[in-house]
Amino acid sequence: MRKLKLFLILCTCLSVLLLSSCGGNSEEYLGELEKLEECKGNLRTIGNAVYSYKTSNPGQLPESIEILIEQKYLKIIPTCPISGKKYIYEKHPVNKSKFKIKCPNPELHVGTTDPKSKMKKLYYDTDTVKYE
Ligand SMILES: [Zn+2]
Repeated sequence: MRKLKLFLILCTCLSVLLLSSCGGNSEEYLGELEKLEECKGNLRTIGNAVYSYKTSNPGQLPESIEILIEQKYLKIIPTCPISGKKYIYEKHPVNKSKFKIKCPNPELHVGTTDPKSKMKKLYYDTDTVKYE
């Protein structure tokens, strides 16, 4: 009888431990997803600033993200919330109205399918955030 009681107590302890560690993981995953959303938000912020620049300077795209700050289209240069690194801005080589803003480290972002997956690409292409 005593053994059974001890066994039951052990089981309870073990399941509590397992549950709490699972909870910890999913919380971490949610935190990672929040950072991903923040990064996507930053990409949109820069993208919108590029559009504002384009509206005021017809037919032109800014030369760099820094110009957007100088000319007050952006207050600060947003950085990726994971690494603190600057985003990469690229103009399309042929189509003068197209541009990309890339997260400098997509591989550090968690994927949206499961906690173990990682992003391969994360960028803003002319008017939408794209990711793989
Ligand atoms: Zn990022």
